[in-house]
Amino acid sequence: MALVTLKQLVNDAFQGGYAVGSFNVVNMETLQGALQAAEENKSPIILAVAEVHMGLIDLEQYAPIILRAAERASVPVAVHLDHGQAFSSFVKALRWGFTSVMFDGSTLAYEENAAKTKEIVRLAHTVGASVEAELGHVTGGEGDPSPGVADPTLFTDPGEAQQFVQETGVDALAVAVGSVHGIYKGTPELDIPRLARIRDLAGVPLVLHGGSGLSDDDFRQAIANGIAKINVYTDMSQAAMAKIRTAQTLPANTDFGQFMLTVVETIKEAVAEKMRIFGSVGKAG
Ligand SMILES: [Zn+2]
Repeated sequence: MALVTLKQLVNDAFQGGYAVGSFNVVNMETLQGALQAAEENKSPIILAVAEVHMGLIDLEQYAPIILRAAERASVPVAVHLDHGQAFSSFVKALRWGFTSVMFDGSTLAYEENAAKTKEIVRLAHTVGASVEAELGHVTGGEGDPSPGVADPTLFTDPGEAQQFVQETGVDALAVAVGSVHGIYKGTPELDIPRLARIRDLAGVPLVLHGGSGLSDDDFRQAIANGIAKINVYTDMSQAAMAKIRTAQTLPANTDFGQFMLTVVETIKEAVAEKMRIFGSVGKAG
């Protein structure tokens, strides 16, 4: 009975001065690794399924497994649709029982983003699920490995953020303040004064997408200034791939199932490391 809404998790984090990690689930290994890390570290967690990853797993078959795992977990778990754009994705996610959805209208003009976000809020809130939206645009595609840099002209405007939250009723807002999806080319620099201003005006927990390349101190500063949810995929994926590359040196009769347990372990460690940085360890109670 540990399935909870995103709103509950991020409001607690926002008030408690830590952030909850949102980890993209793309198969059984990522599900198991992420959940084991949460349970062993008594940390709340968000298990996210990105719309762009839907080709990797058959969610009609897989969504009930994720939900069941969340319900049975000893820590609070939100199950979240990441970067939803198609209306069908929202309807399906809510029917499956996801407790949260993100509508990504960040490439749309303000008016259209606000109007569509409002529609999704109405839909999701009807069944008690939470909604995250994005204002400003975090560049780089989810699952796109090519390195990128942040574009300051797409950063979130604090005044617009205030208006957007009031107009749409979103529970959490993803902001563009200097991070990018995937691998950062060079060293990212977060616009912390802008983030603080957004927090003061928007008044809802803020979300950081694209944390790869950020230092521990960057994360701490972001959390101290309103970030209560941080999305992680690239670092987890890269840790798993590094482990998988070591398989080349193993004997040919190595058991596949046994080896994959070591990949789960690697994912668990990568997730746990983020939980320590985000300050969510021990916050499950
Ligand atoms: Zn994202």
